[in-house]
Parts: sequence; structure tokens; C-alpha cells
Amino acid sequence: MTLDTNKVIAWIEESARVINQNRDYLTSLDAAIGDADHGANMDRGFKAVVAKLKAAPPQDIGAALKTVGMTLISTVGGAGGPLYGTFFLQAGTALGGKTELTLDDLAAALEAAVNGVKARGKAVPGDKTMIDALEPAVKAIQEAREAKQSIAEALKRTVEAARKGMEATIPLVARKGRASYLGERSAGHQDPGATSSVLLLQAAADTWTDHE
Ligand code: ADP
Ligand code: MG
Repeated sequence: MTLDTNKVIAWIEESARVINQNRDYLTSLDAAIGDADHGANMDRGFKAVVAKLKAAPPQDIGAALKTVGMTLISTVGGAGGPLYGTFFLQAGTALGGKTELTLDDLAAALEAAVNGVKARGKAVPGDKTMIDALEPAVKAIQEAREAKQSIAEALKRTVEAARKGMEATIPLVARKGRASYLGERSAGHQDPGATSSVLLLQAAADTWTDHE
């Protein structure tokens, strides 16, 4: 089996399912340090993404991911929409025209996606944002690639790194986004965007674990 366009679409559909399942959880995290809309934002965005991919099936992986990015930007307000939109647009650009992916491709796409989020949101690790989950994920997938691990092993390692980063946001004081308005009071809560990032990576691992 190969990691082809259909498998990438299957990942997006699984992401939509998991985001929907965790909608209230993401909202409660955002209620503590934001405006309680992250679950609803992500759910609305991914529902629109799935509808769009069904209505106009993309020809290749790059096109699929660009559709995801553009749909998120046009349907999700707030900070999360444009940031995740950038994530998928940059991944799609990195994988332009491809119909099959290797671990090298995945690592390059994740790096480009995260660099896009960093360029757009100007967050650095430690600011208590999705970058705290995504930056360790990039490092982990690159290490897996250098160690010539399988895609399944690489994704497992990547999700573990992202999850650690997500958990490490709990004691942090937010320096970016709405949570930063709370100052010291933002400490003691897990960042919603770091949490949704882990869900998206976990969905990839769950969808693609049968790939060597
Ligand atoms: P909003 O904050 O506008 O209500 P969401 O609730 O959908 O948007 O998303 C909030 C999440 O966005 C935060 O938990 C954080 O992870 C992420 N975020 C906010 N600002 C930035 C930024 N500048 N860079 C990276 N991520 C950010
Ligand atoms: Mg919010």
C-alpha cells in the first residue's frame, strides 16, 4: 500500500471526525483562557473541508491540502482559522503535484507547514500556542527520517513529541493570542490550539499506521 491522495483525504476525514468528537473538550479548554470558540471553530472548518473535498475531489495531494487550507481560512474566524489555513496551504505547496508520499515528503511538508504558522503568527516555543506542540513534532519527524524509521514509527514518535509539548503548555504564561490578555492567570491551563494540533497528528498516525 502507498500513502496516496485517497489516504491523505482519509486523514482529513478522520481529523474532521476526531475534531467533532473533541469539540466540547476544545471549547472547554478555550473557555478557561480564551473565548470558548476553538471547538466550534475547528468543527465548522473541518465540516466545510469534508464537504468541499467531496464536491470537488482533488487530483493530487498538494491540491487536496490547498483546498483544506483555503476552506479553513474562509470558514474559520479568529486566530486558529488563518493559522491552520496557512499550515495546510504550506503543506500543499511543499507537496505540489504529488500523488504518493514518502517519509521524506512528510517531514518536508510538516516543516514547511509549521514554518508557515510561525511566519504568520510570530509565536516561538514557550509562548503557549500550537507551536509548542508543532515544533517538537517537526524535530521528531526529522529525527525519525534520519534514523530511517518507517512512516508508522515516525508518526508514533511525532505524536508523542507533540503530546509532550502540548502537556508542557499547562504551566506556561501565554505570550500570544487571546490567552495572553490574561497574563499570569493563563498559567495552569492547557493550550487549546496545541491540543487540536495533537488531535490532527494523532489522526494521521491512526490513518497511516499500516504504512512502512
Ligand atoms: P481565537 O483565539 O481567535 O478565539 P481560536 O480559539 O480558534 O482563535 O484559537 C486559539 C488558539 O490559537 C490558541 O490556543 C493558540 O494555540 C493559537 N494561537 C493564537 N495565537 C497564535 C499565534 N500568534 N501563533 C500560533 N498560534 C496561535
Ligand atoms: Mg478562541
